[in-house]
Amino acid sequence: MPAKCRDRERIAASGTVDIPGLPVGAIRGNLCFRCFSPSDDILKCSGCKRAYYCSAKCQKLDWKLMHKNHCTIFKTVNTVEEEKYQASRTWDEYREYLLMMVRVIRNAAPRDEDLRYIVQAQAYCASCRRSAVQLASRKVTLKRCKDCRLVFSCADCSSTPEHSASICGAYQNFRRIENFRINFFEDTGKATPITCTQFPRETHKPLANAAGWFDYYTKISDKQQIEGRFKPDFSSIEFDIDRNGSDNEKDEAERMLMFLLYSTDSLTMPLTIVSALEDLNWDKPHLTVHMLGATDRELTALANFEELLHLVPSVQSLHITAIGSGIPGPTDGTVLAKQNLDCCPPCKADGRQRSISLHKGVYHEFILESTFEKPDLVVLFNSGWVDGDDAKTHWEPTIQALIDDNVPALFTTYNEGEAQHEQKRLKELGAKLVTEVGENKWRGLVPTPEFIDEENGMWFNNAYRYIVQGKE
Ligand SMILES: [Zn+2]
Ligand SMILES: [Zn+2]
Ligand SMILES: [Zn+2]
Ligand SMILES: [Zn+2]
Ligand SMILES: [Zn+2]
Repeated sequence: MPAKCRDRERIAASGTVDIPGLPVGAIRGNLCFRCFSPSDDILKCSGCKRAYYCSAKCQKLDWKLMHKNHCTIFKTVNTVEEEKYQASRTWDEYREYLLMMVRVIRNAAPRDEDLRYIVQAQAYCASCRRSAVQLASRKVTLKRCKDCRLVFSCADCSSTPEHSASICGAYQNFRRIENFRINFFEDTGKATPITCTQFPRETHKPLANAAGWFDYYTKISDKQQIEGRFKPDFSSIEFDIDRNGSDNEKDEAERMLMFLLYSTDSLTMPLTIVSALEDLNWDKPHLTVHMLGATDRELTALANFEELLHLVPSVQSLHITAIGSGIPGPTDGTVLAKQNLDCCPPCKADGRQRSISLHKGVYHEFILESTFEKPDLVVLFNSGWVDGDDAKTHWEPTIQALIDDNVPALFTTYNEGEAQHEQKRLKELGAKLVTEVGENKWRGLVPTPEFIDEENGMWFNNAYRYIVQGKE
């Protein structure tokens, strides 16, 4: 039984923020809500019919730690859902209904992101779009796709869930990564891998010359041992190993593939920054980066930012200020004044340094403080500054301040549509695009399912990027 996953809140309480979130596989009834282990004979909470368990023991523990509060709110959600029952719904109708559920949950528990996620990601019939709960109360069975196990059809609709081979494939991939993430946490006690190049490069090799992640790992970083072990697109281990290798060799190749694939999801941040610095022809010994809208996600990936020092040999010191209303801390203001972070022995021997400070609040207020110094680069990873809930109140004044300040700002988005919306708004604001919207070569390769914008949508971290500086 996965002991660390089961104890994740206790591990978090002891100081690490780096714990795995609830897998979609659990929300859709494949895995236990408490320990994340799979079960063919899974138990369902009889109160809300939305939480699943491998055993009565896990259910009891989860009730105490988490589910007691959730169950009450889910029962309210289920009542609302029943009031809105339709025998069949289009995707748009289903989507509207999900948005309404999110509002119900936000009213009941404004800060609980898990609750919202559990409802958004719920299982439903791919044809009539009735939810698992609605079907259960009508005693209609819901069958899962035997391949991806994450898409469903109800007994009234069809015997196999309607979804394309590419969607099924994307979900199979996603499930493989979710399982790897659970095992990785069990093995290491961390949810985010640290995968910096072991030794800082002595000569600069531009990322612009690498074709993609496999090239980066083998030619710029130090993972030459993966050559010939798995396919450069990370789709599977090489045919030759699969056919002729020993079980050990196959396992090893598969493990390496998954580890390096999973690592792209946090390395995407430092590599996207390095490629922006290349675009800007930036070349100075000290680099200061302001990371806006930073959340736990960025903070847990910070160890991988040492890769900036390892890829750009001319950089002697790196300072990152993470700013955002999502920075942990009770009140707005400086949560952490400048603090040095540990560097690897070769960096230390070279006298290199890296440091961080944390500021809770919005950027356009932060820049008014007496301690503010203009950075070399501002970064907004997947900020959703045009399409998000807080676009007008929070982001617009910040973006305006960035343009007025004439500071280079790197933006990324989860998808192309979002990037186009942002580009359109920037042009209205008179901003100058130094690098136009384009696919980011250093996007994370880990798919993240999206449940509201697009049916069966898969997003990728930092999928698109562009750079802005000053006014046109
Ligand atoms: Zn369990
Ligand atoms: Zn319940
Ligand atoms: Zn159906
Ligand atoms: Zn499928
Ligand atoms: Zn180092």
